[in-house]
Amino acid sequence: MKNVICFDFDGVICDSAPETAVTAWKVCRELWPADESNLPETLLERFCRLRPVLHTGYEAIPLMRLIEMAGESDDSILERFPGLRDKLMEQEGLAVAELRNLFGNTRDRLIELDQAAWLNWNRFYQGIREILTEAIQRHAVFLITTKQERFVGRLLRHHKIGLATDRIFGLEKQQTKPQILGELLGRSELQGATFHFIEDRLKTLEDVVATEALQPVRLYLADWGYNTPSERRQASGMPRVEVISVNDLRPLLMSAPGGQSR
Ligand SMILES: [Mg+2]
Repeated sequence: MKNVICFDFDGVICDSAPETAVTAWKVCRELWPADESNLPETLLERFCRLRPVLHTGYEAIPLMRLIEMAGESDDSILERFPGLRDKLMEQEGLAVAELRNLFGNTRDRLIELDQAAWLNWNRFYQGIREILTEAIQRHAVFLITTKQERFVGRLLRHHKIGLATDRIFGLEKQQTKPQILGELLGRSELQGATFHFIEDRLKTLEDVVATEALQPVRLYLADWGYNTPSERRQASGMPRVEVISVNDLRPLLMSAPGGQSR
């Protein structure tokens, strides 16, 4: 019996909130020039607190702009971000594709400018590197993420984690996470395996729950990632979802059927 362990990347493996904030702030300075040359600490802290509202990278730009305009409270942004994002983008005449490009290009430029700083803004959560390495040795591991694959690959290489590139499903695939899980579930070489999906975004887990074909997948909400206390409470009331902490991860992977080394 095999196990297929699917990890989300941002908010499960990697705490990329500081890097996302810096990148978003740089784009904001291009779109709305100002004198400051560095991201102010107070904005960074607020951005990290509000990080749970983001789904894909480009949304960090409107989030950072909303924060620096200081017209909305944290509670208001947490509750109404999609509406606030759309309103801001409409007022400023910004399109998703344009922000997506700006975000990716700015990230490329920042890496080129100072790779050490960029890697430092992307921290792997405490203990995750070892857990991921062990998981790769024992199970079939996949990363399913809305990040661009080249950035994921770069961070894995930096942390000396050997995962084949065809095990990384990133933004380029243009598929939702339920679609990717469905595709893996249908692969002949993975038949009979137990599937596990570890994700920090409640909405994504809800989408998986709502997909009939994904019934066999075991679901976990990572409580160390980008979710709010109310989302964690909500998840703990969902029969199919287990809320786990980073310390639960190793016992979970080791006790998974077929998880013992022989
Ligand atoms: Mg995530």
